[in-house]
Amino acid sequence: MSAGPREALGHPVRAARFAADEARAHWHDQALWFVREKRDRAAALVPDWERLRDAAAAIRAHTQGRLAAYLEEFERNAIARGAVVHWARDAAEHNDIVHRILSGHGVRRVAKSKSMLTEECGLNPFLEARGIEVVDTDLGERIVQLAGEPPSHIIFPAIHRKREEIGELFHAKLGTPAGLADPKALTEAARVHLRERFMSADAGMTGVNFAVAETGGIVVCTNEGNADMGTHLPRLHVASMGVEKVVPRLADLAVFLRLLARSATGQPVTTYTSHFHGPIDGGELHVVVVDNGRSEILADAEARRSLTCIRCGACMNTCPVFRRSGGYSYEYVVPGPIGALLAASRDPRAHASLPFASTLCGSCDDVCPVKVDLHHELLLRRRDLARAAILPRSKRLSMSLLGWILAHRATYEAAGRILRLLLRRLPRAILYGAWNVWGRRRELPEPPAESFRETWRRTRGAGHG
Ligand code: SF4
Repeated sequence: MSAGPREALGHPVRAARFAADEARAHWHDQALWFVREKRDRAAALVPDWERLRDAAAAIRAHTQGRLAAYLEEFERNAIARGAVVHWARDAAEHNDIVHRILSGHGVRRVAKSKSMLTEECGLNPFLEARGIEVVDTDLGERIVQLAGEPPSHIIFPAIHRKREEIGELFHAKLGTPAGLADPKALTEAARVHLRERFMSADAGMTGVNFAVAETGGIVVCTNEGNADMGTHLPRLHVASMGVEKVVPRLADLAVFLRLLARSATGQPVTTYTSHFHGPIDGGELHVVVVDNGRSEILADAEARRSLTCIRCGACMNTCPVFRRSGGYSYEYVVPGPIGALLAASRDPRAHASLPFASTLCGSCDDVCPVKVDLHHELLLRRRDLARAAILPRSKRLSMSLLGWILAHRATYEAAGRILRLLLRRLPRAILYGAWNVWGRRRELPEPPAESFRETWRRTRGAGHG
């Protein structure tokens, strides 16, 4: 990785850098496609899969319409079970609340399971700057934490790193033997390292996959059991949840849990689905409910469906752009199609390139378990960017011209004729010259010396082509 993970370079530049390492880009693509296929097989085994998706989308829409009431119901029931509920308007308030709780208990080390919300709020550096060590206990998150990087995928945070690189990292940071690249041995080394951190943590932190209004309980899904380890050894548990995580009833949870694991990794169920109903004996449970811009997205009728996302990552695994450009090319805490939407809704100027990081093929819509109409919403964000004149003038003009050409049959056919003529008549030197300039800029391989038609004629005889 030649550049820092999230510089403001725009998606095309960062994507080109990732794609320049062809072997890595290919392997990243294949690894995620493998997960996508696994998801397909898992979904096919559930006869009522489409009805489950419909039900999930309906529950989410219903909850959004009564969000304040369900959050208040959740608060009442969580307090009745002995939890303390805090409300944070934004990331700064969230971090202050968490810091106040931890410092009030004299905490020096926190064992934290995966939470994209704490990433969004920049909690780790905030706490570290105040003398509190945060240990990310999810294996993938620990790898990127040791490497000083943010996660590049919401489910597979270290998917961009090969095992040889992880071996080098562990050798440097954990003292494992040089050249160790066996996944089992590396996992074992991480387990020993994390076990010591679990035992010495003063507090546990988790995200929240779902909060149930009816019961006041929170649910955390992990495959490694690290949320349980992190919260059952110390007496203090702090959970950070976005306002959109609430579901009305316990029965609704079954719908989402059946969809989540299958969509995320192709597993029939997440290995650990942990329900927390109040604190452990003699302990404290604090739930910090965070808005941080979600209310504004909720108020936008065209954007609010992006808030129904359950963070399964399926849209990333299937997206042809994400698979070939990597998570860091998105410059936002959540990458991929859903990240592009959320980022452009929050700060269109800073993330103007992201809605264009899509082929609009609709594959993301097809796999999304809660039926977020991702590609359509990306198209709307493009429209908003054009209307707000945020895009460069050259792009606006060229898109307007193209739109006009495509909208009229006569111009469309004339443009096709001209292009065909140019391709036939223009000297190859000019065409290849242009290709070379473009290719060098994009760090693409050299084009072949002869056209496909020429190769065809040469190998099959002059009568062909
Ligand atoms: S938008 Fe849909 S597919 Fe993408 S992460 Fe969210 S729930 Fe999963």
